[in-house]
Amino acid sequence: MHVNTLIIGAGPGGLACAKSLAQQGHNVLVLERKKEIGNKVCAGGITYSGLISRFPETLVERSFRRQYVRTNYQSFFIEEKKPIIATVNRKKLGIIMAKQATEVGALIRTGVNVRTVHDQSVLVQDTTSKETQTITYDYLVGADGSSSLVRRYLGIKSDKLGIGINYTLPGKTTKMEWHLNNKLFANGYAWIFPHAETISIGAYAPKESTTPSYLKNSLLQWAEKQGYSLTQERTKAEYINFDFQGWNFGKTFLVGDAAGLASGLTGEGIYPAIVSGEQVAATILNPDHSRNIMDNLIKRHKQHSLIVQLSGKNGILNTLLSELMTLGLRSGIVRFSQMEMAS
Ligand SMILES: Cc1cc2nc3c(=O)[nH]c(=O)nc-3n(C[C@H](O)[C@H](O)[C@H](O)COP(=O)(O)OP(=O)(O)OC[C@H]3O[C@@H](n4cnc5c(N)ncnc54)[C@H](O)[C@@H]3O)c2cc1C
Repeated sequence: MHVNTLIIGAGPGGLACAKSLAQQGHNVLVLERKKEIGNKVCAGGITYSGLISRFPETLVERSFRRQYVRTNYQSFFIEEKKPIIATVNRKKLGIIMAKQATEVGALIRTGVNVRTVHDQSVLVQDTTSKETQTITYDYLVGADGSSSLVRRYLGIKSDKLGIGINYTLPGKTTKMEWHLNNKLFANGYAWIFPHAETISIGAYAPKESTTPSYLKNSLLQWAEKQGYSLTQERTKAEYINFDFQGWNFGKTFLVGDAAGLASGLTGEGIYPAIVSGEQVAATILNPDHSRNIMDNLIKRHKQHSLIVQLSGKNGILNTLLSELMTLGLRSGIVRFSQMEMAS
């Protein structure tokens, strides 16, 4: 089998890329090793502006004009006139994105694991029948997440990783909350994100600053104090890659987490995955396509990485930086949108 563009991974990055390519009549195949599209360890928070231009409003579970922020010394909320962030169900997001891509002609195969990548071909295995097949391609897009095979094929290491831990509890709450506490979450944070019928509670921190077990124990202790007992709940955790080292490697491209484009500061990765997927498609269709959108995304990513680097140096500096940043947010000098990957 031969395709013009082969995309590995049907997350938001791969599906956005597939849709943009297929819309222009390009022959594109997406391979996904999971049997179902959409399931992913995630808090489901997405910037309202990045979301709403691309998806039906029915996808939004909850939207928020207010963001509650708590540090060791400050507790307050910021409020905008319009919603800033929405929560979405990742499964529903995946289903909608897959539908949008297939409706314009993209082919998506699930339950297919890409085992090895070669120059112009891949070896794939059906996860049920175990049958193998070789597929040849002109362009290859690695949209295969934080442990990307395509990235490894290109010989690119992933040293800068974030640890993300999430619990989904049944129930309802109204406030979207961010908790910064150096002792518990290093230069990361814990969150409470309300969904329609569930609540996402979790923590994120760069791997360089803490360990998964310390972060998890801190999260459990902290959640208990907030009135949520997580000890009997199922822990879901994954690494988030923010080690960006390029996206365009001739006829091979990386998008989203595979490219290391998630924010090292907040772990936000849905928006960068979608935007980079769209921009990779535009570049495949026209190699002279303007790089402005991608350059802006990379610029914002670098700003976030710089803050992570500085705040990771020591606890005092981190506390100082987070208190200053919070003070900036309170006073309006820093806009909440500057914490987002959308610019
Ligand atoms: C705990 C946690 C909370 C998070 N919360 C948020 C949040 O609130 N907001 C936000 O914006 N981001 C959040 N993120 C980050 C976000 O989930 C990711 O950045 C985003 O999903 C990246 O999209 P992607 O398309 O690049 O990769 P992914 O969504 O990871 O998709 C990659 C796909 O590739 C498939 N794949 C991998 N290898 C192969 C292979 N060899 N063959 C076939 N298929 C393969 C995988 O099965 C997967 O479906 C969170 C992450 C974690 C861990």
